[in-house]
Amino acid sequence: MTDRQYDVIIVGGGPAGLTAGLYCSRAKLRTLLVERMIQGGQVMTTTQVENYPGFPGGVDGPELMQRFQEHSHEFGLEDLAGEVEQLEDRGEAKALTINGETYLARAVIVATGAEPRKLGLANEAELTGRGVSYCATCDGAFFRNVPVGIVGGGDTAAEEAMFLSRFASRVYLIHRRDQLRATKVLQDRLAANPKIEIVWNATVSGLRSDNRGLTGIELTDTVDGSRRELELAGLFMAIGVQPKAQFLRQVLQQDGSGYILTDADCRTSIPGVFAAGDVRKKELKQIATAVGDGALAAIMAEKYLESL
Ligand code: NAP
Repeated sequence: MTDRQYDVIIVGGGPAGLTAGLYCSRAKLRTLLVERMIQGGQVMTTTQVENYPGFPGGVDGPELMQRFQEHSHEFGLEDLAGEVEQLEDRGEAKALTINGETYLARAVIVATGAEPRKLGLANEAELTGRGVSYCATCDGAFFRNVPVGIVGGGDTAAEEAMFLSRFASRVYLIHRRDQLRATKVLQDRLAANPKIEIVWNATVSGLRSDNRGLTGIELTDTVDGSRRELELAGLFMAIGVQPKAQFLRQVLQQDGSGYILTDADCRTSIPGVFAAGDVRKKELKQIATAVGDGALAAIMAEKYLESL
């Protein structure tokens, strides 16, 4: 094998990719893990993980990922910092263009995960970093003693609202319906937090700003269409995620939202290419299921290589 030839190339270094890396390298497959940012994925932006087994009382997200990273590299997993631009199926070899150079793998595991969805307002991009944020854990502490809003009604919005209440004077959780999607335990905690106010049946229809950044928002009532203004120093988006698989749109079968379609064993539409974690179309997206996917994809990749 030359320098750029591997048994398995794993794309993405979140919980699914790191687990796949552990299993593949432990199976003595020459394995490369490609990550464009820091390893750890979305968990790196979480303060407290309460539902990953083995950590009673919860564990800090980055600390958990540090453990994943150390463990996955115990058996010779190789790393490359970079972005996969292209994947080409050449039958028994898959060619990946990474940082403009070609790497070959006999099997590929795509574990690129997902990223926060945008609201789609005209000046949203311009105000990002100037009051608008997609990560409360990263930016929340900048908003001390000022009112902030968080958009969404899922687990992320609920957890981030609680986190923001440590700093902000008031937290408005803005949800488009009259019922939250978040789990009951989180809903109970929201209700018990005196700093959090839920704004029901409302969407954010405008962002107000001055030359320093965000100053407020326009809310539209989803029931009667009425509009009102709310003064805010910060607005956090927690309206779900979108899969990071655009670069594979022409290559692998995906659903209408861009999630990669697989069978129950993580096999994609191309033999030898597997998908694991949040980028794969599946019902439950958790660290625990990403770990399961990573292990399964690695074992399936190993079986596939044996069959060649
Ligand atoms: P999510 O569950 O998909 O919830 C997204 C929320 O945003 C929904 O309440 C949705 O409203 C709302 N929304 C979507 N598009 C919108 C728009 N254009 N305008 C206004 N509101 C919009 O996303 P998530 O909370 O990020 O969670 C993603 C996954 O990670 C879930 O499976 C979740 O369980 C998991 N997660 C788990 C934990 C945990 O277990 N501790 C923590 C965080 C995340 P509707 O309800 O009306 O659709």
